[in-house]
Amino acid sequence: MDRLVVDVPDFPEPGIVFKDVTPLLADHDGLTAVVEALADAGRDAEGRTVVDKVVGMEARGFILAAPVALALGAGFVPVRKAGKLPRATHAVSYSLEYGEATLELHRDALSAGERVLLVDDVLATGGTVRATRELIERCGAEPAAVSVLLELGALGGRELAGDLPVHSLAVI
Ligand code: AMP
Repeated sequence: MDRLVVDVPDFPEPGIVFKDVTPLLADHDGLTAVVEALADAGRDAEGRTVVDKVVGMEARGFILAAPVALALGAGFVPVRKAGKLPRATHAVSYSLEYGEATLELHRDALSAGERVLLVDDVLATGGTVRATRELIERCGAEPAAVSVLLELGALGGRELAGDLPVHSLAVI
């Protein structure tokens, strides 16, 4: 995986090392392996799917969460940046490693009691995961676990996930 995730220094701002996963997405074997490994966070020890929905966070989370949902036999739900979803939403503001943002989720996207797997490419400060968790809870659904490709361990994002299990394919 190392070979297929490229460090881009000072993008999108000075001081940020951006983890570019597009070479991994372009590699069929790499993408297949990663989707399967991410999906494992939504399975029990016997390999049975234990989630109803997979939520992907805009934008790279969408790319990974949709095939993970298919692999699990679950539905895919997008969490989007403010103003993109066309119907009534819940909204939560949060801090990124770079900048501030608001995330939204359609109010009717999740039903009460549904179990939800959160999928994204990178866990950095954890603000995105925490905001997404809150959006899921506002729908009355249950966040079950977080599955990410890369965890930037030094930023401590896992702390913001609270008691939500975090599955990272690599911690760097
Ligand atoms: P955070 O909320 O700080 O955990 O940031 C996670 C979100 O920002 C994810 O959706 C990532 O796609 C993106 N992100 C944050 N830091 C990086 C980075 N160094 N490289 C690539 N994406 C990042």
